Amino acid sequence: MSIFRSIFKPVQTDMHFCDLHIHTVFSDGLLTPEQVVIKAKECGLSAVGIVDHDSVNGIEPAKRQGKKEGIEIVPAVEMSCALGDYDIHIIGYYIDYKSKKLIEFFADIQKKRIARTKLMVERLAKQGAQVDLDRVMELAGVGSVGRPHIAQVLVEQGYVAHYDEAFWKFIGYHCPAYVPKENLSPKEAIKIIRRFHGIPILAHPLNYQNRAMINFLIDEGIMGLEVWRLDHNNNDINFLLNLVVIRNLLAVGGTDCHGGRKGKILIGELKVPCQYLEKLKNAR
Ligand code: AMP
Ligand code: FE
Ligand code: FE
Ligand code: ZN
Repeated sequence: MSIFRSIFKPVQTDMHFCDLHIHTVFSDGLLTPEQVVIKAKECGLSAVGIVDHDSVNGIEPAKRQGKKEGIEIVPAVEMSCALGDYDIHIIGYYIDYKSKKLIEFFADIQKKRIARTKLMVERLAKQGAQVDLDRVMELAGVGSVGRPHIAQVLVEQGYVAHYDEAFWKFIGYHCPAYVPKENLSPKEAIKIIRRFHGIPILAHPLNYQNRAMINFLIDEGIMGLEVWRLDHNNNDINFLLNLVVIRNLLAVGGTDCHGGRKGKILIGELKVPCQYLEKLKNAR
């Protein structure tokens, strides 16, 4: 049952739905872009947002599969940026993913991610966890290597009992083996997204538990909010929709599917009416 069913009753059967936040193996998701598209079709979705951390490499393969399956692909990227202690994620929808300059920019970020991963593995060794770096890189494969892959190896090698424990004990914020990324400021990330014709949207706006900061980020150029998420209740949705109206923003939503990395696959569990996708498209 989608969250929508509780707020927009009754559901019209001719409505089309989308999921605008899905990760693939090109970052820390477990599904290939092709598998995402096939799952989307099985779930009755009409469109999916391919949203990888610091990578646009999953978009082309998703588009190819989308053509076969009749699924619309919304190209996007999820960029990390830092504001004080916060690691803020901004999604750039409809970013010019074919731009050579943009691809080079992300390739540079991938190099920095590898260096940071090595540093975290060294810090883990000092904590008594001899994490196998080759295995971390193998798990990342073509994807943006990061803490999710390290967490998986910590589980595999028995240093922690489960994925979340890896974050509590070792690699979460303020933990002994945590190394921050060399992040842009939100203003810089928004500028890059805009330069490449993307629409900057604040991902999981309530994760930061700082509602004043959402307004600050809107002042910095955020054009929309991720309103519909599986971890948002009706109060959260109402709060965000109010903000959307007051600040004249776009509203999007998705499952933030990582293909089961965090337990369930999630895709299909939340369906956003395509009317919101249309508004997003019209903002290009
Ligand atoms: P990185 O980009 O390497 O810093 O990794 C960030 C990713 O790790 C996020 O997008 C989440 O998928 C995951 N993550 C971060 N913090 C946690 C946490 N406390 N528990 C579980 N997963 C987390
Ligand atoms: Fe992630
Ligand atoms: Fe995120
Ligand atoms: Zn995400």
